[in-house]
Amino acid sequence: MGHTAGSARKGIAYIILALSILSLAYLASPGFRIKQQGTPPELAGGLERDNRMLGEADLERLFPEIVLRAGKGNEKLIALTFDDGPDDIYTPAVLDVLKEKQVRATFFLIGNRIEHFPEVTRRIVEEGHLIGNHTYSHPNTGKPLGEQLRTELERTEAALAAFNVSPSYLFRPPYGALTAPAAVEVANMGYRLALWSIDSLDWRGLTKEEVLNNVIPQIAPGRVILQHSAGGPGEDLSGSVLALPEIIDHLKQQGYTFVSMDELFPVPAQ
Ligand SMILES: [Zn+2]
Repeated sequence: MGHTAGSARKGIAYIILALSILSLAYLASPGFRIKQQGTPPELAGGLERDNRMLGEADLERLFPEIVLRAGKGNEKLIALTFDDGPDDIYTPAVLDVLKEKQVRATFFLIGNRIEHFPEVTRRIVEEGHLIGNHTYSHPNTGKPLGEQLRTELERTEAALAAFNVSPSYLFRPPYGALTAPAAVEVANMGYRLALWSIDSLDWRGLTKEEVLNNVIPQIAPGRVILQHSAGGPGEDLSGSVLALPEIIDHLKQQGYTFVSMDELFPVPAQ
């Protein structure tokens, strides 16, 4: 009897210990936000990101009406999307593949690159792809930018207007991050946040096989695939370009139809 009561007490003590370890782990986990009080101490990175930056999942939870990540329904639709173009190396290579495979995609272009590579921009337009706004200078939109964000979007639309492209009102924030006030502001400007549901992580200079491994197992109806059609200096996207024909062939074999992001997410009738 005494023995049983003793082990029961021991059991409870263990449960309490386990619970306190769990709650400590929860407090320490990066997803947990501590309410900031007073002036925070100087910290290298980390905390600011946790407090201010909203990633894709947060944005979808907070702004479900404007965040586009994956289409609903079981229809086998898929959207290929390419960020950071145009350039004169990878974007033409991506366009060549899309042309050969007769696939329409969505390009999220950077305004100052549109101005710098007008011939490549013209090709994107003439070959019938949809263009979305990826800011003018690719700032970190996870930080508060104030008036700059509006200017970034407007300058990019102005650059596109020179090619007779009217706004698609699809905005893909750099790094998929945005502050809450900025999300409200861009919504008021009429934009929807065009995020993604399959990240190829191609910007890390992955091989063709690595890109395929990041994409193929994730394929499902309504998904949006993120690749890049240009990078920063020295960034190698050749693995991504080499993977593209195989991604397309695989999707075709599986019976998928390629749609642009505005087709995958039609604006609901008012
Ligand atoms: Zn980008």
